Amino acid sequence: MNLFETMTEHEHEQVAFCYDQASGLKAIIAIHDTTLGPSLGGVRMWPYESEEAALTDVLRLSKGMTYKNAAAGLNLGGGKAVIIGDPSIKSEALYRALGRFIQSLGGRYITAEDVNTTADDIMLIREETQFVSGMPEYVGGAGDPSPWTALGTLEGIRVTVAKRLGQHSLNGIRIAIQGLGSVGTALCELLHEEGAQLVVSDLQESRVQAMCENFGATAVSVDEIYGVETDVFVPCALGAVINDQTLTQFRCAAIAGAANNQLLDEHTHGPQLKARNILYAPDYIINAGGVINCYYEVIQENIPEIVTAKVKGIGDTLASIYDIAEKEDIPTHQAAARFAENRIKTIGKVRSNFLGHSQM
Ligand code: NAD
Repeated sequence: MNLFETMTEHEHEQVAFCYDQASGLKAIIAIHDTTLGPSLGGVRMWPYESEEAALTDVLRLSKGMTYKNAAAGLNLGGGKAVIIGDPSIKSEALYRALGRFIQSLGGRYITAEDVNTTADDIMLIREETQFVSGMPEYVGGAGDPSPWTALGTLEGIRVTVAKRLGQHSLNGIRIAIQGLGSVGTALCELLHEEGAQLVVSDLQESRVQAMCENFGATAVSVDEIYGVETDVFVPCALGAVINDQTLTQFRCAAIAGAANNQLLDEHTHGPQLKARNILYAPDYIINAGGVINCYYEVIQENIPEIVTAKVKGIGDTLASIYDIAEKEDIPTHQAAARFAENRIKTIGKVRSNFLGHSQM
């Protein structure tokens, strides 16, 4: 990869390569854009097959955070960190070394949890830097983001159903949920309270069983879930679930779920959903509840009423994106990108007039 060419193409500001001999830390921090505020995004630990694969991932993920944070209306830019290594051999020294590198960036990057990084790991990073979020509530943090992600997803489903089916209640709406982890389980409960009919699948049989017993859900296998005849398919497990294989199976009116990176290839699969009249709620719009919660921790205003109002606002954001898509006759993922870019442009201009870029 020609690094500077790639940074130019995707407009990244900074890439920091972090190596600590004592702990064995090999990490990359990518700051994509700080127009709206300091960059925020989680730290992922993964046994990447090559350094290039790690670099590609961190560049892609940090750019995604810029769009997610901007569209959510937060005063945050986008960044991300990856640690190259086997997550089964983590150490205190490793995360503290990363904390020192984050501190050296002077607040341009704020970290959080991501794949294979837990709240306990964040507490280790915090030993070395204050630029962290996603801490447990007992130290004044915002706690588990999953219930907030579920709440935002519920609001997104509500707006999606209203737009696509013209129904303003979820009562009787058929919903197929893939993945019953932290978000999927919380979402099942919220949807059940609204009177939705649930069809569920998960690799873990006990989780499926619990949803059937608690919320009257119907179980299907992990392969069957794509083809269930339903109003909304709700991916809450894996990325890339909208692909050539699944597109021919879908029998839903809309897709609106919390999983990250649902479109395997946005250039082909986004337009194909539109062509099939399946309304797609762009993932980084509908699943922003967790990062909204982190933001209020960072600005030390994690007051449940304030966070709730902002997370519920995801519904209005999504409605605006559907309007843009309809008016311009473009797929919804493209409309979401335009919405985010427009906010960066307009608010960025205001901020540079009065404040300077790096202040929150
Ligand atoms: P989780 O790890 O708690 O749960 C994922 C669940 O999916 C597990 O129960 C797992 O068994 C199941 N699963 C895995 N493969 C499956 C398959 N092929 N079919 C059916 N089920 C399968 O994760 P989570 O925190 O609930 O997050 C769910 C998704 O939402 C992820 O894609 C995550 O990146 C995304 N997300 C989560 C948050 C959050 O706040 N937790 C925020 C934004 C996005």
